[in-house]
Amino acid sequence: MIPIFPHSDLEKLKHFLSQPRDLVVTTHHRPDGDAMGSSLALGLFLEKRGHRVSVVTPSDYPDFLKWIPGQHLVLNAEFDPEKAKDSILKADGLFCLDFNTPSRTEKLANFLVETKAVKIMVDHHLDPAPFCDITFSYNQSCATSELIYHVLLQLGGSEPFDRGISACIYTGIMTDTGSFRFASMSSDTHRIIAHLMECGVSNHEIHEEVYDNFSIDRTRFLGYCINEKLTVLPEYRAAYIAISNDELEKFNHSPGDTEGVVNFALGIKGIRLAAFFCERDGMVKISFRSKGDFSVKEMASLHFSGGGHANAAGGRSLEGLESAVQKFLEVLPSYSERLNP
Ligand code: 5GP
Ligand code: MN
Repeated sequence: MIPIFPHSDLEKLKHFLSQPRDLVVTTHHRPDGDAMGSSLALGLFLEKRGHRVSVVTPSDYPDFLKWIPGQHLVLNAEFDPEKAKDSILKADGLFCLDFNTPSRTEKLANFLVETKAVKIMVDHHLDPAPFCDITFSYNQSCATSELIYHVLLQLGGSEPFDRGISACIYTGIMTDTGSFRFASMSSDTHRIIAHLMECGVSNHEIHEEVYDNFSIDRTRFLGYCINEKLTVLPEYRAAYIAISNDELEKFNHSPGDTEGVVNFALGIKGIRLAAFFCERDGMVKISFRSKGDFSVKEMASLHFSGGGHANAAGGRSLEGLESAVQKFLEVLPSYSERLNP
C-alpha cells in the first residue's frame, strides 16, 4: 500500500531536519529483519544529510542481520546501557521504528517517555500508543521498511536510494513478508522491490545472507524441535512447540536461532494456528502464527500480554513454560469454531 502522510506532519518533520541534529533511531527488543532494515535505512539517510545519528537497539540481534549496511551506527543497549540511555535522553529527535508502544523496548521504555526529544513513530502495528509528536502508523503496510521507503521518498525524492539504503529496505520487506509471499504483500510493494533492485540491490546475495547462514547448532536445533518437540492438535487445526532454557543451551543457542521455527509447525497441511513457546530472559516468550482469516493478535493480547498482527503475533508469560502451554490448551476450545469454520 502507498501511505498518505499528513502534509502538516511532513512539513514539521522537514523543518525539524532542516538543521543538523542529534538523532536516535530505535526499535523493538530482539530486533528482527524489519526492525534493523528500517532503522539502518533511516539512520544512513539521516547521516548522509549531516545529522549525528545512533541506531539504539534495546538488545542484541542475530548474526544473520549483522551484514546489513549501517552497522557503524548501532549502539547496542544490551552491551552499553549507560551510553544508550544518555543518547536517548540527550537526543534532539527520537525515531521509533517498528513498534507501537514504549514497553516493546523493554528496559529503554522509561527513557523513551522521559526524553524531551521530538518523537517520531513509523510503524505498521495496530493501536499506536500516543507517545510521539508525529505518528506515521499504517497497519495495512507489510513492513516498517516499506513505510521508511515512502518517508525517504517524501524527504529526499529518489536521491536516498543508494545501494546500501536500498539493501536495508529490501531486507526489511523480505523478512516481514516471508520472502514476498504473505497476504500483506501488495503489487505496490512488488514495485518497490523492483525499484530497489534497479538501485543495485543484489537479491540473491541478501537471501543467502539471511536464510543460508545458519550455524550447525541452529540447524540441529530445528531438527530437534520438529522431531522431538512438535505437538499437533488436529481437532483445533493447531500445532505447537515448547522449548526450555536447558534445551536452548544444549544447542548453544544465539540470538535469532529460534526465529522462524514456528513456521514449520504452521507449514503442516491443515494447520491454521501455530505457537512456539520458549523460555528466555526469565519469562516465556510465545510466537503465534496463523493462516487465513484466523487472527492470532487477539489470543496474544487477551491471554499472553502481547500483540502484533492478524497472522503473526507474540506474547509472554511469567508463570513458567508448562503453565504457559497449559493456558494455551485451556483457551483453545474457545477458538474452536473460528479454527474450524
Ligand atoms: P515474533 O513472534 O516474531 O516475536 O513476533 C511476531 C509479531 O508479534 C511481531 O509483529 C511483533 O511485533 C509482535 N510481538 C511479538 N512479541 C510481542 C509482545 O510481547 N508484545 C506485543 N505487543 N507484540 C509482540
Ligand atoms: Mn515489522
